[in-house]
Amino acid sequence: MIGNQGEDDPFHYTVSHFKEIARQNLFAENAGVAHDMDRCAVCNPGIAGRDPFSVYLEVIVESVLVRRPGLDEALVAEINGDRAMAGFDADLTVSRLLEGDRNAVDSWVSWVREALATGLGLLSIHSPTSLDFDLDEQESIGYGPLIASSIQHIIGQQRRLATALRK
Ligand SMILES: [Zn+2]
Repeated sequence: MIGNQGEDDPFHYTVSHFKEIARQNLFAENAGVAHDMDRCAVCNPGIAGRDPFSVYLEVIVESVLVRRPGLDEALVAEINGDRAMAGFDADLTVSRLLEGDRNAVDSWVSWVREALATGLGLLSIHSPTSLDFDLDEQESIGYGPLIASSIQHIIGQQRRLATALRK
């Protein structure tokens, strides 16, 4: 008997498939990467036995962490780039972000949120049957807490790795 928690189950298969795509930096071209479509929970929303949005979000959270596991200079440069575009001072540093300066952390949260939105957009073009989720829309129908905790999870992991590397 095949259990439902093992590597064969659609949820785990899907998360590992997309983590590998992220590792190879092929997320933008994910639609063209060969995979087992019968077991893919992005191609077949609902196949994982969980609510499709939470599955899509988990896929993106894990993939973002593959690309950006820790808060480093490269990530800070991206956050500063976003700030400059929004007309703020692009003067953040790893230290200021780790110290938890409120204004700085708000920009970090915005970066993660944008990464999630971009990822969901790329999953929407994964296959003809994949769904198109919009973060604002999902928030308005009650997924705000899940989205907020996903953002905090990513920030927590990125902070942990950056802090560990400084020791
Ligand atoms: Zn698929």
